[in-house]
Amino acid sequence: MSEPKYKRLILKLSGESFAPPGERGISMPEVVHIARQTIKAKEQGVEIAIVIGGGNILRGAQFTAGNSTIHEATAHYMGMLATVINGLALQDALESLGCETRLMSAIKMDGVAEPFIRRRAKRHLEKGRIVILAAGTGAPFVTTDTAAAQKALELDADILMKATRVDGVYTADPEKDPDAELYHELTYAKVQEQGLRVMDPTAIAHCMEHNLPILVFNYRTDGNIERAVRGETLGTRVGC
Ligand code: UDP
Repeated sequence: MSEPKYKRLILKLSGESFAPPGERGISMPEVVHIARQTIKAKEQGVEIAIVIGGGNILRGAQFTAGNSTIHEATAHYMGMLATVINGLALQDALESLGCETRLMSAIKMDGVAEPFIRRRAKRHLEKGRIVILAAGTGAPFVTTDTAAAQKALELDADILMKATRVDGVYTADPEKDPDAELYHELTYAKVQEQGLRVMDPTAIAHCMEHNLPILVFNYRTDGNIERAVRGETLGTRVGC
């Protein structure tokens, strides 16, 4: 078995990875499936912090579209709280499989999660715990993609791995266009110029400014998280 290519990584899981395909909410079998794959990847000897999304429950921008009775900022806070709900589910799934974890929240929430403190998060990782980072950046109007980029930079991660339900970044939406082709390599500049759907623009800008590589890959293929950690060729890699 080859050595892991990375020492520390951020795994960005979208909330939809917790719901049955095409549905909303949380399906614990789906969560346990991802948890099992993540543990196998970690057993390669890499430190993993997971930034969890909340789109299976609520996305602020979608919730306020055409709805003037709620301030958009309020809806974004609701979205951040959704990520905490997902974080709790993921924590129990990982721990049911015997993995030590810590759930840290960017919004102070005593009794539910530890506050995110950079040095403490690093210490948890060094001790071999999987750290789940919830509540995004703690501020509205961005998404957990931006949180993942920020946390990757704060925690000195070697790479940001974005797990999606397709194989990577395509020339068009592969779920709608059968002729869509997969990019194996992309530059940040090309992602920006062509508006490719990799991560939100703020996240791309952070990664570009700090030359943090991104790997977009399919979490639905068994063993892919492990393959990604070993540095096998899969998905789409975004860099300079
Ligand atoms: N959110 C926010 N600030 C953050 C992270 C998230 O306001 O730093 C809100 C935003 O409304 C977002 C929602 O939380 O839509 C859920 O996160 P996201 O859409 O990134 O979840 P995913 O699509 O990854 O499941």
